[in-house]
Amino acid sequence: MSDPRELLLAKRAEVEGELADLERPPSDQGSISFGKRVGEGTSMAVDRLSQVVVHEQLQHTLEDVDRALAKLDEGSYGACDVCGRPIPQGRLEALPWAVLCVEHAAAR
Ligand SMILES: [Zn+2]
Repeated sequence: MSDPRELLLAKRAEVEGELADLERPPSDQGSISFGKRVGEGTSMAVDRLSQVVVHEQLQHTLEDVDRALAKLDEGSYGACDVCGRPIPQGRLEALPWAVLCVEHAAAR
């Protein structure tokens, strides 16, 4: 298995890049023309809303990645932050930044 720290640092860079993209104002903002068909504004608002949701999910992932990196330093990586039981290997391979067991991740 690869070094989890490398996986976490790579994920951190990826998430930060996606957050930066979301936070950047749309480049075509100045060229929005009037006279678009009715309903366009609504779908733009929905896009904006889904961006907010994605942004929140990315922030959560970033928090988990940072927490997982801290756990590597503490030597508690791979153990659930709530109950201390080992996080299954398969879960860590799918989600190297998992800091909770399946049970406690579902309860969050
Ligand atoms: Zn747990």
